[in-house]
Amino acid sequence: MEEREPQPAYLASPGSVLNVDRSFYSSVASAPRVLKSSITIPPRSAKAVNVPAGCIFRFSTPSGPQVGDLNLWNAKNPHERFWASRTRQLQASHVTTFDRMWSCLPYLRPMATIIADSLQDFGVSKWGGRCHDLLGTRCDPYVNKMLTGDDYDFHCHSNLVRAILPFGLTEPDVHDVLNIFQVTGLNSSGKYFMEASPARPGDYIEFFAEQDLLVALSTCPGGDLSKWGWGEGATGANEENDKGGMLECCREIAVEVYEIEEGVRAEVLNGWKEPKRPDYKGMHGMMVPVGEGVMETRSEETA
Ligand SMILES: [Zn+2]
Repeated sequence: MEEREPQPAYLASPGSVLNVDRSFYSSVASAPRVLKSSITIPPRSAKAVNVPAGCIFRFSTPSGPQVGDLNLWNAKNPHERFWASRTRQLQASHVTTFDRMWSCLPYLRPMATIIADSLQDFGVSKWGGRCHDLLGTRCDPYVNKMLTGDDYDFHCHSNLVRAILPFGLTEPDVHDVLNIFQVTGLNSSGKYFMEASPARPGDYIEFFAEQDLLVALSTCPGGDLSKWGWGEGATGANEENDKGGMLECCREIAVEVYEIEEGVRAEVLNGWKEPKRPDYKGMHGMMVPVGEGVMETRSEETA
């Protein structure tokens, strides 16, 4: 008998919350829409933008390949933020249309759903690389210092820190990212690798906001990753000595926020509701005294 590969740990079986309503998200993607805001994130920087629930946010590469590091928070409660590793398990190591971005505990609900991806047919490179990466995380000045001895202030981590400050968030709010337009994989030794971004001018990825979001994106100083390298023998990314010419492979990413046209919005979004948290009773088996000699099990407030 032919051996079969193990089945996924988390199955999108019929009726499961993991089984998305594709026809709903397809109609959202094709519904007439109105541009609410439009910004461009210059090379080696980041910006944050509020996206109301029920709206669409879109990232594109107008000038060609560039990878972007994405963070999401609940706009009203930044404790609820994107959980990359659970999303990797529930969806896949690389995401595309109909995959969802899940939030951290104790929330665990979809924050956004991908409704369009012009690179969804990228498939698998000859090295096993796939696009829109959840295996890795953001570049940061600490690992850079550790590996090269250099101080550099425009890694994705630092870019995201600066982008969220005006929204009242700080460095500990930055979390593991989705690397959009980025091709990565694990080699035969299980080591993480990156390949050059396949994004062409005009390539895009679009998300439907399942709740009110703060969305931040950094244009990675590694640019399209065609010349990436930190560590021994690397080309480096220092502003003042851009040895490997990495600045040449850095481009902007455009961000647009849309709402579905008013006349059709109610019809298109009919039946859609902001996802709820799983109704675990809370408390993790603990009893907490409410006062002297009085014990009571309380469940957590629901979102
Ligand atoms: Zn980066």
